[in-house]
Amino acid sequence: MAMCLDTHCHLDAPEFDLDRDEIIERASLAGVSGVLIPAVRAKDFLSVQDLAHHAALKMPATCYTLGIHPIYTPEAKESDLDILRVAVTKALDDPRFVGIGEIGLDYFLPELDPHHQSYFFEAQLDLAQEFNLPVILHVRRSQDAIIKALKSRKLSGGIAHAFNGSFQQAENFMKLNFVMGFGGAMTHDRALQIRRLAKDLPIESIVLETDAPDIPPMWLAHAEHPRNAPGELPQISSVLADIRSDLVSRTQHMCSQNALRVIPRWNQLIQNSSSKVTQPH
Ligand SMILES: [Zn+2]
Repeated sequence: MAMCLDTHCHLDAPEFDLDRDEIIERASLAGVSGVLIPAVRAKDFLSVQDLAHHAALKMPATCYTLGIHPIYTPEAKESDLDILRVAVTKALDDPRFVGIGEIGLDYFLPELDPHHQSYFFEAQLDLAQEFNLPVILHVRRSQDAIIKALKSRKLSGGIAHAFNGSFQQAENFMKLNFVMGFGGAMTHDRALQIRRLAKDLPIESIVLETDAPDIPPMWLAHAEHPRNAPGELPQISSVLADIRSDLVSRTQHMCSQNALRVIPRWNQLIQNSSSKVTQPH
């Protein structure tokens, strides 16, 4: 069976507080090999780390990143950047720690001050550059500003999550060793632009994600309280395979390889754990 990785899953979200273990179990049974859990604010760093290790008992390829999400920048303090630096320095010894994120710019929400969020974004990009770590990007109506910030540094690459830009913007990300995350949005028939991108972009530039509990796929969207979950990833990947007229197994395999290419520590984690499994005694 092809490796199946959810490159963006907020498994620590309060929406999962009542049944998190069930959600993990269901994803594991559905064939999800691992999820990437991006932290969103400084006070969650330790719990995200703990959760990644816990979830790895069922999904061995589970990993996490540390960062401050633009939505949490209004409450973030300058000292949170110091907390991030200390946490990253410590986490370098943890094989499940794989990068900086979720960071970015959100120009959709009017309450977010562009200068304030940009300050936190740029500082975290500098940190990623300093530690040579990939970044998980939140890009909302901010593609060009983000590409500009990336271009002014030497970064290793990463993922532009929930990608919703133009083909040309995607190409700019690809030149900087970034891949584009596709998930629940692509499953909606009316999401024409995203579906066109999912079809036309080279498969080498695509990774799969759920963004659970957000962006529920079409088949969950009509529930009273729609909630996405990592166990939906295999079905989301079969939608991508359909859109591209490709095999599900090949689609899952390629997307997983792409994620591991741009997130080297995730690749290392998997190489090390699989060599342990396959080593003869
Ligand atoms: Zn996110």
